[in-house]
Amino acid sequence: MNTVMVQMRDGIDEDGIRRAGEILRRGGLVAFPTETVYGLGADALDAEAAAKIYRAKGRPSDNPLIVHIADWEAIQHIVSEVPREARLLADAFWPGPLTMILNKSEAVPLTTTGGLTTVAVRMPDHEVARALIRAGGGYIAAPSANTSGRPSPTQARHVAEDMDGVIDMIIDGGDVTIGLESTIVDLTGETPTILRPGYISREMLAKVLGTVETDRALLADDDRIRPKAPGMKYRHYAPRAELIIVEGPEQRVRERINELTARRQAEGRSVGIIGTDESLGFYGAGMVKSIGSRRDERTIAQHLYSILREFDDSDVSVIYSESFETPQMGQAIMNRLIKAAGHQIIHV
Ligand code: AMP
Ligand code: MG
Repeated sequence: MNTVMVQMRDGIDEDGIRRAGEILRRGGLVAFPTETVYGLGADALDAEAAAKIYRAKGRPSDNPLIVHIADWEAIQHIVSEVPREARLLADAFWPGPLTMILNKSEAVPLTTTGGLTTVAVRMPDHEVARALIRAGGGYIAAPSANTSGRPSPTQARHVAEDMDGVIDMIIDGGDVTIGLESTIVDLTGETPTILRPGYISREMLAKVLGTVETDRALLADDDRIRPKAPGMKYRHYAPRAELIIVEGPEQRVRERINELTARRQAEGRSVGIIGTDESLGFYGAGMVKSIGSRRDERTIAQHLYSILREFDDSDVSVIYSESFETPQMGQAIMNRLIKAAGHQIIHV
């Protein structure tokens, strides 16, 4: 298949959106920018189109897709009932990086929901994404546009690495602004529950809803507790090299990373280091990269996936990373980093 790349870095190209919308209406696949990460879109109400997403990504069929909408009214058609909490959250955070789990209507095929009777819904805060959703029929299923298991794409180039020749079109909207997938909140139980942490924190949700819980599987560093979001159980975001997180007071973390680097190099291994703008100068050896600045956690979230992909393009066989327990997005950043590391953490 020939994959067409369409430029929309400076905003919407009407002709490109029209062509992309036609592809979606025909049951094809279009990757597009959102504020979180790039999504791989198909018509969410067409089971065959949704099935193509799983095939293109190599995604397990029990890992449901998020349905993206562009207008609040669209929600009525895909859920059986709109709870009061959904309206409150939409008023506060949509369009934005928040996904709500609701009971689905008949209109949504089980292929889209991975066999579940609930559906995940989000309205993205990106004008290209919303124009595409409208052009494509109003309901676009879109997981992250990476091959299953690889770091999520935060640039169109990353999408092309994984999906060139496999999908119909990639819309290049430049770098995403957030860089981590949406917060997922389940509104189908007694108490609203966070199934995946993201930019919208528990505190922000609690201000609107009162009590908000966090899925126990997220808090416990224990693979045996089954997460409520099926996708959270899979190994994810992993670079090709072994990744190990070093956690503790900043100064001791840096010292330990230098020691470990020297040891691995003595064994003949090539080492990568994930530091920050503040710590770069402390590392004497290895391939050192800054993920961003501790003074601005947004920069850390933005570069997490691209830095993992950069190391994939190098010859390092082991990567040591500092840990990033930042104020708002720390839980989300560490959730992704710990998965990428396959739970390998050294506490100092
Ligand atoms: P991605 O779009 O690649 O960020 O993945 C979507 C995430 O949403 C996965 O972790 C899914 O398991 C989760 N998800 C989607 N639909 C549901 C649902 N109905 N119930 C629980 N989790 C869901
Ligand atoms: Mg994903």
